[in-house]
Amino acid sequence: MLMSICSRWIHRTRPNADNGDRPTGLAPRFADSLITLLVGERRFTTNSETLTERSPFFSALLSGRWDNKLQDGSYFVDADGDLFEHILRYLRRGLLPVFYDNVKGHDYNLYMALLQEAKYFGILRLEKWLENKEYLKAVEVHHTVSKQNCNADDLSIIESNVTKEYLSAPLWSTQSYWHCPHDIPEHAKRQRACQDYSLAHDHHNATTGRKVTVVSWDATVLRKETVFNDHLCLDR
Ligand SMILES: [Zn+2]
Repeated sequence: MLMSICSRWIHRTRPNADNGDRPTGLAPRFADSLITLLVGERRFTTNSETLTERSPFFSALLSGRWDNKLQDGSYFVDADGDLFEHILRYLRRGLLPVFYDNVKGHDYNLYMALLQEAKYFGILRLEKWLENKEYLKAVEVHHTVSKQNCNADDLSIIESNVTKEYLSAPLWSTQSYWHCPHDIPEHAKRQRACQDYSLAHDHHNATTGRKVTVVSWDATVLRKETVFNDHLCLDR
């Protein structure tokens, strides 16, 4: 199963921009700790502990030492809003990001861009994760090569964390068997027995069985399985 902490990062979606309006009906003390950030053109709402726990940048920004609030009470951060989405996700839950796609592999451009942001915001653990490419250990790709007799059904089975390549020029073969309407396995190779059975047991004389031909071939299969080491993404 790919429902893992890491894999949730794989398919990047762009959530709706956080609504900058403060939720109503909150206790005043809690409402006071809410912070609205204007990052580039996107607004994010979170609380001050989330921002300051791991980031000296935000400790300084929210220290009250400077008169740096905008008129509406929010703070402007000169950064890319889409990248900041990943920064905030890390600050909120301490999950280190893995941007991996089964086909394209790791998204190194995104790692590079995020590394600059981690440095800008002074988030050391995230910076180390990205700079030392620790995310590589979070995704393992296992290859196995095998010889396999395949038919069309094999090709249509899709496992989300497995890709298969069928390498050799296929050697075709066909196999025929009798499709028994009585579900008696021995009839698969004995059309005559099946027809006799029909005459003896079915109310109508003619058997409804039919001959089925399956095409198969021998191929060398390169199987690639992706394994996610979720625990490595937890910031402990
Ligand atoms: Zn039969």
